[in-house]
Amino acid sequence: MNSIIIFGIQGSGKGIQAKLLSARLGYQHIDIGDLLRYHISHHTAIGQQIQSAISRGELMPDVLIFQLIKSTLDKMAHGIVFDGFPRTLAQAEYLIKHFKVQMAFYLQLDEDKAIARIQNRRVCKSCGANYNLNSHKPQHDGICDRCGSELIVRMDDTPEAMAKRIQAFYQQTQGLMGYFENHGLLRVIDADKTPEAISDSLLEALGKA
Ligand code: AMP
Repeated sequence: MNSIIIFGIQGSGKGIQAKLLSARLGYQHIDIGDLLRYHISHHTAIGQQIQSAISRGELMPDVLIFQLIKSTLDKMAHGIVFDGFPRTLAQAEYLIKHFKVQMAFYLQLDEDKAIARIQNRRVCKSCGANYNLNSHKPQHDGICDRCGSELIVRMDDTPEAMAKRIQAFYQQTQGLMGYFENHGLLRVIDADKTPEAISDSLLEALGKA
């Protein structure tokens, strides 16, 4: 099945870009972080196993990620936009083996800007909608525009977990740029722009602008 990869440092805007692109192309959007958070908030057996490691900012085991992808895959979809996958070399190899990768977009953003974005991130406790206290404020402080529930700091957006996640990004994920470049699939996109401008860059690279 066709697939498009969006990867980059935490806070680079993978989630919003994957959402926009999948809607535009009619592809399934697979957001691994969201799937994991679903298990935690619904207290499934997987959720109970992973909760403390996620809140410490650690990467989850590759086999669990492969299992989640298999169980969520919509075989009728025209394609998939992967958000937050792959994050390790083993995951990139799995991807190339099982999917036809059209392009791998690396969202390039300086670490200090990425950290500032994450510090301003708030998420809805109930529906998971994302806000940013600078660029995408809720209409009423601390309240979700969509469902009226409380906005909170994500459990892995604490300074300690953030430091760990960024370290994992440099140690395991950033190096995948070389892997995708060797496969002729890498496109580096400047993520220090508005979401709309970044989305236009992705569509242009795909010849869909
Ligand atoms: P995200 O919402 O993409 O920031 O992901 C939140 C957390 O989920 C990460 O810090 C990891 O603990 C876990 N996670 C998400 N995607 C992956 C992946 N591909 N491999 C391993 N762990 C992941």
